Amino acid sequence: MHELAITRSILSIVLEKAREVKAGKITKVDLRVGRLTGFVPECIQLQFEVLSRNTEAAGAGLNFQRPPAKLHCRRCNLDYAREDMSITCPECHTMEIDIISGSELSVESIEVE
Ligand SMILES: [Zn+2]
Repeated sequence: MHELAITRSILSIVLEKAREVKAGKITKVDLRVGRLTGFVPECIQLQFEVLSRNTEAAGAGLNFQRPPAKLHCRRCNLDYAREDMSITCPECHTMEIDIISGSELSVESIEVE
């Protein structure tokens, strides 16, 4: 259920943007959810549907971009990408790594009517 807090903040960002442009209805929301956040798009989708009832975002479609995580190994200097939550270096299996990207979560754009 840890998606609930993040879904609430996504909704409030989206509603604020819609009010800025005086939109009556939000039809689509593009989200960027890094692989390392651990957030499950389906959970965000479900909770968004519940939370957005009776708001301008009711019925909006969510579109998830899931860029692979980019990582850098400090031990062997390898740059690599990961599509799941295992982030250890594929060469030397160390955890001494830097996360370049993959832990981001942002609202990229919204479509309104
Ligand atoms: Zn390595």
